[in-house]
Amino acid sequence: MFDYVKKGMTKTERMQQVLDWIEEADAVVVGGASGLSTANGFDYYNHHTPFFEKYFGDFGKIYNEPSAWQLLYHRYNCDEERWAYMARSGAVMLDLEAGQTYKDLYELVKDKDHYVITTNQDAQFSKVFDSNKIFTIQGDAHWMQCSECCSEEIYPSEETLHRLNASIIDGRLKTEDVPHCPKCGAVMEPWVKSFIFQYGEYWNKEAEKYKAYLESHVNDKVLFLGLGIGRMTPEFIKHPFMNMTYNWPDARCAFLNLGEPEPIKELEDKSVALNVDILETLQEMVAMKNGVEYKKAVNE
Ligand SMILES: [Zn+2]
Repeated sequence: MFDYVKKGMTKTERMQQVLDWIEEADAVVVGGASGLSTANGFDYYNHHTPFFEKYFGDFGKIYNEPSAWQLLYHRYNCDEERWAYMARSGAVMLDLEAGQTYKDLYELVKDKDHYVITTNQDAQFSKVFDSNKIFTIQGDAHWMQCSECCSEEIYPSEETLHRLNASIIDGRLKTEDVPHCPKCGAVMEPWVKSFIFQYGEYWNKEAEKYKAYLESHVNDKVLFLGLGIGRMTPEFIKHPFMNMTYNWPDARCAFLNLGEPEPIKELEDKSVALNVDILETLQEMVAMKNGVEYKKAVNE
């Protein structure tokens, strides 16, 4: 059995507890949400960040929007404008290097049997973790779908996104460059969560694989490790992690996020909360794991 949580632990003790649980676990289920990407400066939500200005500044000026999130939901006049932004956004996601948080997280769990579930659509996990063990529950930048949902098929997007991104002029694509469904001719849509999101064969297969992984570990020592999960969509990762920790005999959960609240009473002896800067804390935990002194980076 895992140890139960002691009361009143310091931050260092909590980090050590999580490291001990990883070390002892039969399986680690990693849940990653937007805070895990934002911690690297990949900020799709806040206004006029350096990340936004670098990759989307031209679109921000043309369409008078302050963030990638708002550009995504901007009311474009035509598909040529909207798909220009989609192409830029998707190409940036696919081309960015893996963020430090993802590399450090991998360092912590790489020796253990693990599986990833993520609400992030930015393809960051796939740059570091085994793609066969990642369930992108809200889709991701690697795929497109038909906007009319004429079939369950989803289509690889990489070649299209790069070609289109290279042909944007003044925030627009040429009409002939707007991608269309090969089956029915409707305009394509990125395969990311929306009212028409395609829960087709691929998504169901991935969901079944994740479910089977969970079911094979019900009676094992399982650590649910959630990172960067805010208040926007806790129903996909956080609440299921808490339910399974409560119901499974030897499961524990740990959540790292800026503003992370203390565990609910029902889970206080099986759960650790770290209200921390994820970037710094994961680096600190990697140093602790490797038995080296952690030196905080200067010039931050
Ligand atoms: Zn179609």
